[in-house]
Amino acid sequence: MATLLKAAPISQQIVDDLTEECSNLKKKGCTPNLKVILVGEHPPSVIYTRNKKKFMENIGAECEIIKLPQDVKEDEFLKIINELSEDAKVHGLFVQLPLPKHLDHIDVGQLVPPQKDVDGFHAQNLYQLMKGDKGDKALLPCTPKGIMSMLDYADIDLNGKNVVVIGRSMIVGKPLSLLMTNANATVTLCHSRTKGLKKETQKADIIVAAIGKAKFIDSSFLSPQKDQVLIDVGINHDENGKLCGDINEEDVSQSCALLTPVPGGVGKMTIVSLGQNLVAAAKRQMEN
Ligand code: NAD
Repeated sequence: MATLLKAAPISQQIVDDLTEECSNLKKKGCTPNLKVILVGEHPPSVIYTRNKKKFMENIGAECEIIKLPQDVKEDEFLKIINELSEDAKVHGLFVQLPLPKHLDHIDVGQLVPPQKDVDGFHAQNLYQLMKGDKGDKALLPCTPKGIMSMLDYADIDLNGKNVVVIGRSMIVGKPLSLLMTNANATVTLCHSRTKGLKKETQKADIIVAAIGKAKFIDSSFLSPQKDQVLIDVGINHDENGKLCGDINEEDVSQSCALLTPVPGGVGKMTIVSLGQNLVAAAKRQMEN
């Protein structure tokens, strides 16, 4: 039976550390301050931003959600981002996606200056990641960073391991492949055009599923000879409307060594990483 690697104890430890760091920064006159730009009333975005604000306030940081109307003019939207980018009291800034159609062409990752880019999508942060940075200089994308924290907590050393990452998105698969490469894993990045996916996953020590297809990975993707570690990034709903990941937890639980659950796994770590990025951004801006 697989061990479940849950986020709760890991996130609690990080929350405690962040609370202490915020308190120390406040004593030095710097309260980490995050601004979130929310355009329109897209229901999941309203929930995500509310959760992020609650998390930041819980660790002692400040967070304001700046709500803009769905039909906000492009000029006005850009003006607000520019003002916040230049405001020395603001340490972190991001635009909650998706944006309405008329703003969709804007590459928001490039609008926010790299030192305030707590989402970790600015070209300069991604370049540092390509160069081998593990978060000392760059602000790292939150979901990949959260996965690395989970592996670290579970004492899983990536050095020399064969990892298969399924999914090549900019927010998960690609940056995670780089982070794992920087940690000396041998990474195979698979996607919808990969031929012989099962052959790849059966050779892996660690499999990361970031596909967006409910319960796609079952025991037929695994090797009975290996103690494989399975990281489930997917957030989907099954045929009964129940939240589930990309991995069929019930089916694989007898066939792998360790598994992250959905819910209660990677999803919870993404917001924790955002908190870590905000505190790191505030510290670095205070020191410069
Ligand atoms: P995406 O839609 O941008 O990318 C999906 C990837 O899966 C693509 O690269 C595609 O090539 C690959 N894929 C699709 N079908 C495949 C197949 N049959 N075989 C192999 N590869 C296939 O998705 P994303 O934004 O990276 O998100 C992936 C999943 O992770 C979604 O369920 C999303 O909701 C979830 N997610 C979770 C978090 C979190 O915090 N836990 C964060 C981001 C995304």
